Amino acid sequence: MVDNMSKRGFDPLTYRFEDQAPSPGNVTKLADGVFWIRMPMPGRLNHINVWLLRDNEGWTIVDTGLFKEDVKQHWRSIFENNLDGKPVIRVIATHLHADHTGLAGWITREWGCELWMSRSDFYMCKVMAADGPSDVPEDAIRFYRRAGFTEERLDRYRQRFGQFGANISPLPAGYRRISEGQYLDIGGREWRAIIGHGHAPEHVCLYCPELKLIIGGDQLLPKITPNVSVQPSEPHANPLRDWLSSCARFRELLPPNLLVLPAHESLYEGIHERLTALIDWHEVALEKLYDLCTTPKRAVDVFPALFKSAITESSYFPATGESIAHLHCALERRMLSVEEDANGVAWWHQA
Ligand SMILES: [Zn+2]
Repeated sequence: MVDNMSKRGFDPLTYRFEDQAPSPGNVTKLADGVFWIRMPMPGRLNHINVWLLRDNEGWTIVDTGLFKEDVKQHWRSIFENNLDGKPVIRVIATHLHADHTGLAGWITREWGCELWMSRSDFYMCKVMAADGPSDVPEDAIRFYRRAGFTEERLDRYRQRFGQFGANISPLPAGYRRISEGQYLDIGGREWRAIIGHGHAPEHVCLYCPELKLIIGGDQLLPKITPNVSVQPSEPHANPLRDWLSSCARFRELLPPNLLVLPAHESLYEGIHERLTALIDWHEVALEKLYDLCTTPKRAVDVFPALFKSAITESSYFPATGESIAHLHCALERRMLSVEEDANGVAWWHQA
């Protein structure tokens, strides 16, 4: 994730409800039947915004926070104090990442309700959460060696492998599928599912025309550029192409005057401007990448084209995935070429 907007002088977005951010365990009303909750997260992200929607016979929760005891306690307090004696009747997860799905399994079991997700994200979440620490696959090692990882860095990958599921309460065996364009009746209102690609396989956003708002998850963050990464699970993917076309499609599809409810940071207006800024940021990064590759570079050598701040231990893996995503996009556009050396390391240069 790259914080790009705050480093520019001009910010075209209008932030809303900034002084009404709820403390953990409390709710802020945003519109009729729409409530904002914030759950704590460790690290730089600090929090995730999740949403409580009044539904026909109870409540729908959108995204859950991590599978951690303090987050559970905040939910228990909300269940006791903020549901008007009505049950939670469904949980929607916008996408597979642990801050969004962490307590989905636990909440559905507590209330005997169903989990609603996109198909790709449900299954990918299950598969990734099932990886154990001893399962490090040899082709994943080859993938990171190809990117330029040292043996020491590969050892660190082996050590951290199998951690994806650590912050996710086991998902239920079955789920309800959300597909592109599907209308969901939530509390007598139509909410339309719009699916974005690139940050997650099928990231669900929920748009309510009547209330003029959209739940944007990580697809529509105001300042952070979401991580768009190539992973060992699909080593030749071009997720940046998918991300850029999703941004352009959202801009065509959605009206400009929406309140955006993002998963992190502040609520805002200016969705078209934000989508344009996201596209521009990656296009500029691709040009910088091209300039940097006048001499052959490995994926781990091109961080300066993409990131202004120094890459730390914890950001090294997502930075590598993001670099490869940009390299693959540049390769498909025939801006760059690639050659593999005798050690299986890929060297990228101007085409
Ligand atoms: Zn995410």
